[in-house]
Amino acid sequence: MTTEKTYRGRCFCGTIEFTASGDPAVQGYCHCESCRHWSASPVNAFTLWPRESVAIIKGANSIGTYLKTDRSHRKWCKDCGGHVFTDHPGMGLIDVYAAIIPNYPFRPTVHVQYGEGVLHVRDGLPKFKDFPKEFDGSGVTVPE
Ligand SMILES: [Zn+2]
Ligand SMILES: [Zn+2]
Repeated sequence: MTTEKTYRGRCFCGTIEFTASGDPAVQGYCHCESCRHWSASPVNAFTLWPRESVAIIKGANSIGTYLKTDRSHRKWCKDCGGHVFTDHPGMGLIDVYAAIIPNYPFRPTVHVQYGEGVLHVRDGLPKFKDFPKEFDGSGVTVPE
């Protein structure tokens, strides 16, 4: 028996459906150029889950993958073009974009790559120039 919570996500057209179960390892906002360019938005709201917590339940054949670098396997729907998540095999984590799992109670705790950001957010959360030390970053924080 499991008491794990399960959150359902889908692409823009609904061809792809997946679940994320349990709790994410970390959640927040990424301001890096790659996230902004890929998401076509000024900031990416991320939730990073252990890979085994994410399961495709429908439309696996419609998932496209793009690797600009081997660190990030970006996934989208071949039917609608909607983005679904990014697999980070090196970290063992999958970034499910917060906007794709609307019933997940997103509680961001951190801003990363704020040093290259374009949108200033005055929410009082820590703003890392790059990444916290536990994610191989400098651990340096910058003002809002
Ligand atoms: Zn779709
Ligand atoms: Zn990013």
